[in-house]
Amino acid sequence: MGTVVVKRGRAKPLWRGHPWVFRDSIDRAEGDPGPGDLVSVVDDRGRFLGRGFFSPASLIAVRILLRDEETPADGALWRARLERARALREETLGLPVVTDGWRLVHSEGDGLPGLVVDRYAGHLVAQFSTAGMHARREELLDALEDVFSPSSIHARADRRACKAEGIPEENGLLRGEQPPGPPSILENGVCFRISLGAGHKTGFYADQRDNRRLVGSLARDRSVLDLHTYTGGFGLYAAANGAADVPGLDSSGAALALAVENAMLNNGRQVRFERADATETLNRLHREGRAFDIVVSDPPRLAADRRGVPKALRMYRDLHLRALRVVRPGGLLAVSSCSGAVTEEDFETTLKEAAYDVGRDIQVLARGGQAADHPVLATCPEGRYLKFVLACVA
Ligand code: SAH
Repeated sequence: MGTVVVKRGRAKPLWRGHPWVFRDSIDRAEGDPGPGDLVSVVDDRGRFLGRGFFSPASLIAVRILLRDEETPADGALWRARLERARALREETLGLPVVTDGWRLVHSEGDGLPGLVVDRYAGHLVAQFSTAGMHARREELLDALEDVFSPSSIHARADRRACKAEGIPEENGLLRGEQPPGPPSILENGVCFRISLGAGHKTGFYADQRDNRRLVGSLARDRSVLDLHTYTGGFGLYAAANGAADVPGLDSSGAALALAVENAMLNNGRQVRFERADATETLNRLHREGRAFDIVVSDPPRLAADRRGVPKALRMYRDLHLRALRVVRPGGLLAVSSCSGAVTEEDFETTLKEAAYDVGRDIQVLARGGQAADHPVLATCPEGRYLKFVLACVA
C-alpha cells in the first residue's frame, strides 16, 4: 500500500478528525500509488493518521475512510456502513412514515466519502464521485443490493466531480430492470414523479423536504409564487395545503413537464406552471404592481467554490431585492442557497441588505438547512451546503 506524507504543520485538522488531505498539504507520495488506491496517510514524523482513497488529480487528494490500520476496505465494510446509514433513516429518523424517497448515503456524512445514493420508491440512484469509489463500483453495487434489495440501481454522474477526479461520466441503468416509466414517491402526502438519474441531482431535491413542509403549512388560502419550482416542489406543497393560487416557474422545460404531470397527480388545480426566467418575471410582476402572500426562491448553486462566492452573493442579493418587491406587506419570503461555499451568515446578509435597499423591514422566523437524511459529519462542516431562511416582510 502506498503512503502519503503530509507536510509539516498541515496534519492538525486530520488529527482532529477532518477527513480530507488537500493536494497542497502533501509533501510526497511513497510507493507509487495510483488514482483510486487505498493509501496510508502519515504526518511528517511518520505517525499514522488514517487510510483513504487517493485522487492525485483532485484538489482533495485523499479522503480518509478508516482511522485504523487493520480493517479491510471490502464488501463487509461497505455493508456495515450501508447498514448504519439504513438504520439512521429508517429507525432513528423514522423516514418511512414521511416519505419513500430519501438520501440513503450522504458521502462523508455516512462514512462513505465520494458516494451518494438516493432512493426513490424501490429504485436507487448512485453517484460515484471519486476515483476510489468509482474503482470499487461493482463491490459497492453488490453491497447496495445486499442491504437494500432494490428493484434497480441507476448511475447519475456528477459532471464536475468526474472532471476533477479524472473518472468517466456514466449515467443509466447499472443493476436490475429499467422501470417502465418514472417511479413516483409520496412525500408528506405529496406525490412526485422522478425521472431516475436524469434531471438535476439524482432526480429530486429531497434535501428541501422539511422546508417545503414548513412553507406548505403556512400556505392555506394564500397566493404562493414559486420562483424555481423544478418538478413542483414548494408549489405543490402549498397547493396540497390549501393555497388559493400558486404560480410556479422554472427555466427548464423538462423540469416543468414533470411539474405539470405532478400537479395533475396531486389534483393541484390552483397551480399554474410557466417556463420563465425568475428575474425577468419578478421585474414584470413589479411593473404590474402585483404582490403575493408568500414568495419562494430556490435557485441552483450560484457558487461552485470559494472563488465564486463574491459574485454569488451579489446574485443572491439582487434576486432577494426583486423578490421582496412582490411580497405583500406582512407576507413571507422563503429563500434558499445550495452553494456550500456560501456561509449561512453571508447568505442572510444578502437578505438583510436587499431589505434595506427596498426599504422593507424583515423578521427572520426560521432558519433551516438540508434534511437529516443529508447528515453532516461534525468534523467535516463542508458537508453542510443548504441554507434556508424564512422571513416576514413588513
Ligand atoms: N425548489 C425545487 C428545487 C429547485 S432547483 C424543489 O423543491 O424541488 C433550482 C431550479 O431553478 C432548477 O429547476 C432550475 O431549472 C431552475 N432555474 C435555474 N435558473 C433559473 C432562472 N433564471 N429562472 C427560473 N428558474 C431557474
